[in-house]
Amino acid sequence: MTRTIEDLIPDYLRGLPVYVPGKPIEEVERELKIHAVKLASNENPLGPSPKGIAAAKAVLADANRYPDGGTHALRETLAERRGVSADEIFVGLGSSELIDLAARVLLRAGLQGLTSEGTYAPFSVAIRASGAEPVLVPQREFAFDLKAIAKAITPKTGVIYLANPNNPTGSAFGRAEFDEFLAEVPDGVLVVLDEAYIHYALSMGLRDSVEAYRKRKNLLILRTFSKVYGLAGLRIGYAIGRPELLSAMNKLRTPFNTSGVAQAAALAALDDNEHVTRCIQSNAAERKRLSEGLTKLGFRPVASEANFVFMVVGPDAKALSDDLLRMGVIVRPLGWMGFPEAIRISVGTVEENEKCLSAVAQVLNKSGDALKRAPTQMKNSELAAR
Ligand code: PLP
Repeated sequence: MTRTIEDLIPDYLRGLPVYVPGKPIEEVERELKIHAVKLASNENPLGPSPKGIAAAKAVLADANRYPDGGTHALRETLAERRGVSADEIFVGLGSSELIDLAARVLLRAGLQGLTSEGTYAPFSVAIRASGAEPVLVPQREFAFDLKAIAKAITPKTGVIYLANPNNPTGSAFGRAEFDEFLAEVPDGVLVVLDEAYIHYALSMGLRDSVEAYRKRKNLLILRTFSKVYGLAGLRIGYAIGRPELLSAMNKLRTPFNTSGVAQAAALAALDDNEHVTRCIQSNAAERKRLSEGLTKLGFRPVASEANFVFMVVGPDAKALSDDLLRMGVIVRPLGWMGFPEAIRISVGTVEENEKCLSAVAQVLNKSGDALKRAPTQMKNSELAAR
């Protein structure tokens, strides 16, 4: 037999794209020998929860021991806070692991995973990695078209991935729209509702989605400690879902997925109301300033419910990002997410946002009107159709 190891890699894995992370700040600073600000990965610019840091430090001395593989303390606390039982909570390596496990448990060749175009790329990667067929429904006005997604459900649909608010567009849907959508989803289809940015969605009048879960158990709600709690580097998040599903996910995960340091930090960060409130308020104020600043410069950012701002800038999006990078401002060009003419700028601190706005203004001055014309002459609907 002349089979090689490479022959064993299934075709559906060969074609998968590699996740492209935002450029690390150290790399940019080393290459360009300048001080840079990173507004590319939707991180918390105010840092981790101080209570989380203290708790993490306190358990570091126990690092010779394996962590609690069942994450009991954190699950019990989350269960109490969210009004569910501990066996309805699953703790994972950020929401990333949860997105992947849901597909690995429920999807396979012959089934379909449904999501939207222009959403978080790991959704379709998880679907494809399971051997299932990804079905991507077009957006409307840079937002999930829940009606069209409901219409796209077929007997082959196993899982539907939604992000609320959505990354990278920053749009969100409200509870009435979501309830209407859920009513159209058969019991045998799981809806994964990724709420990574939910703390920042202030104007949607969103009620707790656990209410919806109580009525319809075919829902898996994902939360992360990476955003408002500022613990992205520790890799921890959780899911709320039906125990039968979670116990299947539990069999597939690695035995000690989350570290003791991450568990301790997450537990303490949950109680750090002061930090959470400060981060939400700062994000709201700075998101407004960044969006208004960009609008004054002639752009048309999409109204954001998250900790970043999305805007279509035209065919020079990659060039604009590269120019900003050379000036020490790292933003995210979005070709890899299906928007070759758009960029996403994470909301930073006052100083970071000022540096960003002034760099954008300088690039515009240099490049003349070409960049400005594209976004200002078109409505969002026209842009969405492109
Ligand atoms: N879901 C969405 C919509 C995201 O934008 C991100 C990260 O940016 C994640 C999940 C991943 O978060 P985590 O750090 O919890 O894996």
